[in-house]
Amino acid sequence: MPTYVYDFSEGSADMRALLGGKGANLAEMTSIGLPVPDGFTITTEACLAYLRDGKTRPPELDQQVADHLAGLEQRTGKRLGDPRDPLLVSVRSGAPVSMPGMMDTILNLGLNDDSVAGLAAAGERFARDSYRRFIQMYGDVVAEVDGHLFEDALTRRKMSRRVTSDVELSAEDLEAVIGEFKAIYRRETGEDFPQDPRVQLDRAVDAVFRSWNTPRARTYRREYDISDDLGTAVNIVQMVFGNMGNDSATGVCFTRNPSTGARELYGEFLVNAQGEDVVAGIRTPQPLAELEAVMPEAFAALLEQMRGLEQHYREMQDIEFTIERGTLYILQTRTGKRTAAAAVRIAREMTEEGVLTRTEALTRVDPSQLDQLLHPGLDPTAETTVIAHGLNASPGAAVGAAVFDAETAEAWGKAGEDVILVRWETTPDDIHGVIRAQGVLTARGGMTSHAAVVARGLGKPCVAGAEGIRIDLEHRMFSASGHDIHEGDVITIDGGRGEVMLGAVPLVPPQVNEDFDTITAWADDVRRLAVRANADTPEDAVRARELGAEGIGLCRTEHMFFGEERLPVVQEMIMATDEDQRRAVLGRLLPFQQGDFEGIFRAMAGLPVTIRLLDPPLHEFLPDLTDLVLEIEQMREAGRPEHEIARRERVAARVRTLREVNPMLGTRGCRLGLLYPEIYEMQVRAIIRAALAVEATGVEIMHPLVGFREELRRLRALTERVIEEESGDALGVLVGTMIEVPRAALTADEIAEVADFCSFGTNDLTQMTLAFSRDDAERSFLPRYLEEGVLESNPFETLDQSGVGRLIQTAASLARETKPAIKLGICGEHGGDPASVAFCHRVGLDYVSCSPFRVPIARLAAAQAAIAEAAEVA
Ligand code: ADP
Ligand code: MG
Ligand code: MG
Repeated sequence: MPTYVYDFSEGSADMRALLGGKGANLAEMTSIGLPVPDGFTITTEACLAYLRDGKTRPPELDQQVADHLAGLEQRTGKRLGDPRDPLLVSVRSGAPVSMPGMMDTILNLGLNDDSVAGLAAAGERFARDSYRRFIQMYGDVVAEVDGHLFEDALTRRKMSRRVTSDVELSAEDLEAVIGEFKAIYRRETGEDFPQDPRVQLDRAVDAVFRSWNTPRARTYRREYDISDDLGTAVNIVQMVFGNMGNDSATGVCFTRNPSTGARELYGEFLVNAQGEDVVAGIRTPQPLAELEAVMPEAFAALLEQMRGLEQHYREMQDIEFTIERGTLYILQTRTGKRTAAAAVRIAREMTEEGVLTRTEALTRVDPSQLDQLLHPGLDPTAETTVIAHGLNASPGAAVGAAVFDAETAEAWGKAGEDVILVRWETTPDDIHGVIRAQGVLTARGGMTSHAAVVARGLGKPCVAGAEGIRIDLEHRMFSASGHDIHEGDVITIDGGRGEVMLGAVPLVPPQVNEDFDTITAWADDVRRLAVRANADTPEDAVRARELGAEGIGLCRTEHMFFGEERLPVVQEMIMATDEDQRRAVLGRLLPFQQGDFEGIFRAMAGLPVTIRLLDPPLHEFLPDLTDLVLEIEQMREAGRPEHEIARRERVAARVRTLREVNPMLGTRGCRLGLLYPEIYEMQVRAIIRAALAVEATGVEIMHPLVGFREELRRLRALTERVIEEESGDALGVLVGTMIEVPRAALTADEIAEVADFCSFGTNDLTQMTLAFSRDDAERSFLPRYLEEGVLESNPFETLDQSGVGRLIQTAASLARETKPAIKLGICGEHGGDPASVAFCHRVGLDYVSCSPFRVPIARLAAAQAAIAEAAEVA
């Protein structure tokens, strides 16, 4: 018989998959003797069984819950539903991977018309407050009554009493509220509020199970690549009360500042409040430091627990606590979400404090987060008009059009517009809008409000609790400091300072600091893969080196054919009717290209530079046919001279000849080089002359789109002949190819005979292997594929390891059979994706190459791959 229920005293931290993160940590804390309220956990397996069996609880579950409930009643000396001194519990979801705010907790379960009287021994007001909260949460979460109905009823009551906060309502007021809530419940569900505590419990557990599949939970899982097959556990926890009066409180704290990483007091609390009040931003909480004055003993106890928990878990902790009549309880601890800046600082400082080893420190930073540090901030010299202040909830600056709901944020964001999502407060239902927004601005809520937590996780700037802004949803605007901002008006927010500004403030590139340099330098000591950058210009090359690139893995030469001066020459070359004419024109392009290469070689100062010869089809350099036809028409109408018209017509005719049904599979890459050898000759000549001029070493010439050994053999001969003609033999230039055609991957042993190196062009290789044209796929079926789970991730963002990856693996081993020392790498966006980098490490490539801003990500990901491998071996 499967075990579906575990007491906290039976579990431990390594039972995450079964007990969920919250359950495993509650068990761990219980076993090390922390003040955790008693309880038990229903496993993720029970959840999966429930969902699998068409939403029915597995038969063994009811009895096991009954047994564990009886145990809990015995240990606490209280009974669920007892009219004298009732046991109350919370029902809390907790998945194996933390999903903040995704699933709602029910507090005070076990209250009914009888047991509320028993609770009243601890205070009339307190008891009724607890009951009304329970009906509200249960109604909202379990019975799916629109939560606003309860909120509105409560607000009406406060208004009629002329009070602003719910703590000011009396016991009598709350009694009336309970009556209204029960009426709402009856009206909306067609039945009375359930009085049997076991019925309450079972339905609450079912609701948690079901919540695993709500749209918002699914959205979150997709964004964070969390599997849908984990399921959620359910924790049943004895209630402790932060709302028993002014000697009680509830709060949230972090062991270090999650924005900056500094080791300082960070957190918030509310006196006389319960659970969600802090995160929901209903009342703005007090900073943790003020707890010392209010409840000095509980404060001291909390500090001690914070220190102990961080030492125990060797990780920065995010802790929920409640103080009941002066006694501290820890309700949750988990690894705290943090900004990238905080992550690198914490990793470094915890190593320096002797808590972590360097290797451990490297695994504590999420590589994909690192590019947050490379995000822009406000230009310090810019004039700004600050119209509101709020909390600096998530750093970075953002500029965008103000929008007032998640749907608009998503729609405008998808259309390519930068938007700032402006809300009173965000809820988990807004997640799709937050994902699309540049930044988030809320009028309410604290540093641990939903908006703040989610924005930090996503690396988006966020200003929270900007109480000076007045949102008028009906007119889709907000006003602040006498300014009216309508939907679509551009604003700037600075999440590092908590400021809201008028208009678009200019941004500057971010500064990379010492913590960042330290962690990436440690990564360099550990990794085996080399990291290069894709850079087409000297400026990109400089940036890439600053970010730690050890070479250029892909320098595209297309752009050297564009620009005011060059494009007309290129067009003339394409229009040329014979080879001699073409050669003459190409001679004029050569100095331009030579200059570009000199710049890049200088910037890279002897590090390897892989230059890819011309790749796109020639028609890309000519005007669009429709435009041309239109232009000729207009020239005729305007009575332009015949010879001018004839010249345009010749261009149109050439465009027609070059036009291809499927240019991706047409005359491009090395096929161009074989058809018009003079183009590649000119490029090679420019490269060699540049290398000689600046005494460059490490030059690598790469021929694109090779599928057959014979293609590369001929182009290699051409390349070597030109090198010799230019007396560049002493440079030690390498000649190789990009592997981006599946046939090349499958015959890499043959290709390696004539290649010094192979670089997997994973973008085209993915297109060709999957038969997906990227632009078309991403505009049409790919989003649906991802939504419906046909594919787990976008194969253009993270390498399709079992398909494209298998080709890479095959090619690598074939190539090494022929030439053991052949240099192998990948270029393309995958080179900056941590999972793809790990794959490249495992299949033994020599380097990855990615865009300059992703170089630090690749460095850390490569180090983590090496660490993971060492751990496996050990
Ligand atoms: P979340 O995952 O959204 O943080 P939790 O289950 O941690 O959900 O609970 C929500 C809030 O209710 C938290 O503030 C938590 O501290 C509080 N809470 C949960 N269980 C109890 C309990 N047994 N007694 C008092 N407060 C509780
Ligand atoms: Mg919690
Ligand atoms: Mg390509």
